[in-house]
Amino acid sequence: MKIVEQFPLADILYYKIGGVARYLLIVQSKEDVLQALDFVKKNNIIKVLPIGLGSNLLLNDALFDGAVLLFKKPETPLLTTSDSIVESFAAQTLDDVIQFAFANSFIGIEWAGGLPTTVGGAVRGNVGAFGSEIKKSVSKVFAIDIQTLEQKEFTNEQCKFNYRDSIFKQNKNLLITSVEFLLQKADTPQLEEAKKTYQKNIEYRKTNHPVEYPSCGSVFKNITQKEEVEKILSQWPDIKEVSENKWHNKIAMGYIINRLGFTGKISGGAQVSDKHSNYIINKNNATFKDVVTLIDEIKKKFFDTFGFYPEPEVQIVY
Ligand SMILES: Cc1cc2nc3c(=O)[nH]c(=O)nc-3n(C[C@H](O)[C@H](O)[C@H](O)COP(=O)(O)OP(=O)(O)OC[C@H]3O[C@@H](n4cnc5c(N)ncnc54)[C@H](O)[C@@H]3O)c2cc1C
Repeated sequence: MKIVEQFPLADILYYKIGGVARYLLIVQSKEDVLQALDFVKKNNIIKVLPIGLGSNLLLNDALFDGAVLLFKKPETPLLTTSDSIVESFAAQTLDDVIQFAFANSFIGIEWAGGLPTTVGGAVRGNVGAFGSEIKKSVSKVFAIDIQTLEQKEFTNEQCKFNYRDSIFKQNKNLLITSVEFLLQKADTPQLEEAKKTYQKNIEYRKTNHPVEYPSCGSVFKNITQKEEVEKILSQWPDIKEVSENKWHNKIAMGYIINRLGFTGKISGGAQVSDKHSNYIINKNNATFKDVVTLIDEIKKKFFDTFGFYPEPEVQIVY
């Protein structure tokens, strides 16, 4: 475990926004995590924040007076295989797992091509894209309780996965240390097909998402609850068909943000992307306040239009 004091978090977060952390504790193994938590306890540190790639975090610009546990990819790959199980330390990227799977003729998570995430971040937020979710491929999760230092094991069911949600998101004391993925053994044509899907999804992101600017991906969750979908359709009955046929009875937040008139809107250095309206990009040295101003304006107009608030997908640390 490596300790760095007074570390500027904007340097490592995708958004390039964030204050200085009093301590950055770099962890590359379960033993490092235990050492880091020991350090936290001995120094009476109250605030602890795990960070993976930092691709879903909007952090305020003030001092983070606590310890950030940076899950950094270990030098030696920790992936092992037996039958159809691939085990990964939380700091590996999901792309590492996909590459390892391909090299060992496994398929199942190739849909996540181009999705920037560590394994820990992916499981915590049950990442998804192109109609798939990571929960379908998780067989076991290992975690440590920050408070008690107890090491715990979770079956897929015990993870309580939901749309961009899991028990690890609900209980902030749980630090994911490793994950077992259950994949499928593939023959050569299946493997080639999976590699094509992987590549196609990377290309799709390059064309349709503003990947040329710092961001945190989708700012808001799509609208999936039946009663909320109905509230929106009662205001905008013209999208009933597209909701049923294209969005699987959900409503895409990018569409709503655009229709509410926010596409291209600027606040300081931040902008609602022209390419994908559910992205707020850091166009020109945006501050935390610049981004939050746009988020709050969207929330207000949304509430005034539909009578309820949309839920942010980005993790905001005020
Ligand atoms: C260009 C772009 C495209 C994206 N596309 C998608 C997409 O298609 N689908 C999708 O679902 N998301 C997408 N995202 C969002 C993001 O990639 C995911 O949310 C991702 O899982 C975040 O992983 P991370 O490792 O970067 O976590 P971080 O951003 O570092 O952290 C996210 C949260 O998880 C916590 N955390 C991190 N590691 C651990 C751990 N080991 N144990 C417990 N808690 C932990 C953090 O404290 C934080 O609250 C996109 C983001 C970007 C920038």
